[in-house]
Amino acid sequence: MRAHDRHRNDALPAAATQHRGRSALRGRKRASIGVVGGGIGGLAAALSLLRGDFDVHVYEQASALGEVGAGVQISPNASRILHRLGLAEELARAGVRPLAWHQRRWENGRTLLRTPLGEPLEAAFGFPHYQIHRADLLAALAGAVPGERVHLAHRLVDLRDHGDRVEARFANGVRAHFDVLVGADGIHSQVRRILFGPERPRFTGCVAYRGLIPTERLRELELEVTAQVWMGPGRHFVHYFVRSCRLVNFVAVVEQETWRRESWTDRGEVAAALAAFEGWHPQVRSILGAVDETFIWALFDRAPLERWSAGRVTLLGDACHAMLPFMGQGAAQAIEDGATLTACLAEAGTDIAESLRHYERLRISRTSRLQAQSADNKTRFHLHDGPEQRQRDAEMTAGSTDWSFRAAAWIYEHDAAIVGKEKASHGP
Ligand code: FAD
Repeated sequence: MRAHDRHRNDALPAAATQHRGRSALRGRKRASIGVVGGGIGGLAAALSLLRGDFDVHVYEQASALGEVGAGVQISPNASRILHRLGLAEELARAGVRPLAWHQRRWENGRTLLRTPLGEPLEAAFGFPHYQIHRADLLAALAGAVPGERVHLAHRLVDLRDHGDRVEARFANGVRAHFDVLVGADGIHSQVRRILFGPERPRFTGCVAYRGLIPTERLRELELEVTAQVWMGPGRHFVHYFVRSCRLVNFVAVVEQETWRRESWTDRGEVAAALAAFEGWHPQVRSILGAVDETFIWALFDRAPLERWSAGRVTLLGDACHAMLPFMGQGAAQAIEDGATLTACLAEAGTDIAESLRHYERLRISRTSRLQAQSADNKTRFHLHDGPEQRQRDAEMTAGSTDWSFRAAAWIYEHDAAIVGKEKASHGP
């Protein structure tokens, strides 16, 4: 039985899930922590906190844990944490360790930069880079969190900070009390809205077609085990293997002025995706043409927040630092958040609000910098052919951009569980 099925079957009746957090830090007992949201960020945080001996419960609005059918890159700064949480075996089994980032020109496939991701990366940073199906990562996390601690079909609608505890209110009538409440409820975060007021996410001017293709269907392409990024005018195309190389995952990003549909994601037309990549290298078009179905996503982000916490309530993941996926760091930063939060709470005296302030001080500059770099990459990936594009390509070939292995060190070497004041990492 898959982990998320187990949780679904174990879903407790509403009354049974009602529990009061003990006074915990108030009397130096185990602090009780409610995590709102059972995505990658919420489950990784819950696991970190459980390993830190906190009394943790996760509340997910959906009736089953699940992820979209797509891949995700897990860089060493995140795999360092996942390995420590005991997931090395699952990652090795379900994930793929790519040899390199291979950045190429859109029409002729010329190599602009090959950044090693295999042995040299692991030797430099101590942990591997993985490419993994999101459902496999979520199942690994869910399998490590005891089922009785995950409460499905619990949509948080309101909260009250009573000073000595915080009360979470759910749409099904359940109320629960904790020492700390964590909003890991994604880009539409209700917890964020309650803390800091309504604010709509920004449409970034990009949409993404995503799809998965059985590798055997693409055998003739003889794809190498790398993450390939094809850059062209107003768009880019990324593909890499997941699920032990049995599936090829692609993300095809296209600039678009507006997004008028109500939904942020929709079934996309393969023909429309192919039309958007007309004239591109045959490898790109072969991959797009081989997919049975594709989904189209409007890409939104948010401006960095000055605060993530108020009293006993804080945020993590996309709830507080949603970013364009062009640094492959959204989920990785959510995983880092959970490790830093755990370390800050473990160090806590009796002042929980101050511990949460410490947590956000350590995190905000780093995630804000990644939000900005992710947005910058939209421009740099999508340059139209001309002088600026030629300069970019020359810099990439010379290894003098922040896509080089050396320049990314500030991202990969960071250990989010070390929370001494001097350790806040936001790069050079
Ligand atoms: P979510 O995954 O959105 O989870 C939030 C959870 O909270 C959901 O389960 C939701 O149902 C639940 N929830 C919401 N509201 C409530 C409520 N009121 N009550 C209870 N539950 C609630 N990141 C990387 O690190 N590497 C990559 O390669 C990468 N590629 C990407 C490619 C694309 C095309 C996109 C769009 C993103 C990519 N990202 C990547 C970013 C990454 O997917 C996100 O940053 C990450 O999934 C955010 O996780 P989260 O747990 O914070 O939020």
